[in-house]
Amino acid sequence: MSTAAAYAVSAPDGSFEKLAIERRELGPHDVLIDVKFAGICHSDIHTARDEWGGTSYPCVPGHEIAGLVAAVGSAVTKHQVGDRVGVGCMVDSCGKCEACMAGDENYCVPGSTMTYNTRVSEELQPGGYTLGGYSTQIVVTENFVVSIPEGIGLDVAAPLLCAGVTLFSPLRHWNAGPGKRVAIIGMGGLGHIGVKIAAAMGAEVTVLSHSLSKQADGEKFGAKHYYATSERQTFKDLRSHFDLILNTVSADLPIDNYLKLLRLNGTLVILGLPENPLAAKPFTLAGYRRSLSGSMIGGIAETQEMLNFCAEHGIGAEIEVISADQIDAAYDRVVASDVRYRFVIDAATM
Ligand code: NAP
Ligand code: ZN
Ligand code: ZN
Repeated sequence: MSTAAAYAVSAPDGSFEKLAIERRELGPHDVLIDVKFAGICHSDIHTARDEWGGTSYPCVPGHEIAGLVAAVGSAVTKHQVGDRVGVGCMVDSCGKCEACMAGDENYCVPGSTMTYNTRVSEELQPGGYTLGGYSTQIVVTENFVVSIPEGIGLDVAAPLLCAGVTLFSPLRHWNAGPGKRVAIIGMGGLGHIGVKIAAAMGAEVTVLSHSLSKQADGEKFGAKHYYATSERQTFKDLRSHFDLILNTVSADLPIDNYLKLLRLNGTLVILGLPENPLAAKPFTLAGYRRSLSGSMIGGIAETQEMLNFCAEHGIGAEIEVISADQIDAAYDRVVASDVRYRFVIDAATM
């Protein structure tokens, strides 16, 4: 076993404190990673504050991990010491169910092992549940470690590991590309990367944001149109307009109003995960054969595909690098939508 420095919260209303944690001995297929940067995803906040229930404390969040391989187990073939690598939301899955067999480990039927807050054996993680990337080191089985291509900095790559693939996967699944009108609701951590990726895929991208305060940025990221959802006129102007709408908002929205913005056969995909149910009216869906769906991160091969795509198109996250003692303040700023556009923790400050 090895000891790593980590930042953890001990209660839903607690603040982050430095903690020494154990990482398991390397098994034959394990990779030990020196974490360089860890992004702050809104899911980290939902979990640390126990907004979804079921958080085990002390909790070490972090599933947007970029770093360098420090050591490999005896049978590892995919990565070598010194490689630039990333780890996203999952560190394992059953490998046998129909989803895993299809490369959709994110939809593993018995459930994937998430990077933090999932019950595992003491052998896999001393303490009995996974501890994430707000840490100097992590041990992950090689199949769940992806390669970060040269040409993307580790700092701007880190947020791609969750935010990037969470947007890339539905954009690919619903065939975003030339001739498709795509709207992104919410231009935060997920949303801003979605704008960049959808534009690079050739879609006509519209941002639907609280206000017009980030319009210039949205256009720089590749959006053709930008609307404020605080204006009632927006919902009149854009009625029955989009092929695909991706909702990245972390709070409750009047979803029926947004469903009405879908044209015939259009789909609205839920990515943001507030805890309350959605209120969709049957007439809104039936009227134009509209679909309401959802999507959860992406598979491992798809994560690699996304990183390669981002490297090819020069896409990285827009980030603000912080030190580990600034995590609490960063959380408050994310909740207040005061982030441009992802906080990334420099692990050297742990
Ligand atoms: P974020 O950086 O906080 O961005 C969320 C954006 O939603 C904000 O920038 C803001 O955009 C908008 N927003 C926030 N509060 C709002 C409100 N009260 N009303 C209207 N709009 C509001 O969060 P994130 O890291 O992108 O994560 C977003 C959500 O996705 C979270 O719920 C997270 O748990 C979830 N998530 C899901 C997956 C998945 O696989 N499905 C993966 C990662 C994260 P504007 O200022 O532009 O309006
Ligand atoms: Zn995330
Ligand atoms: Zn499985």
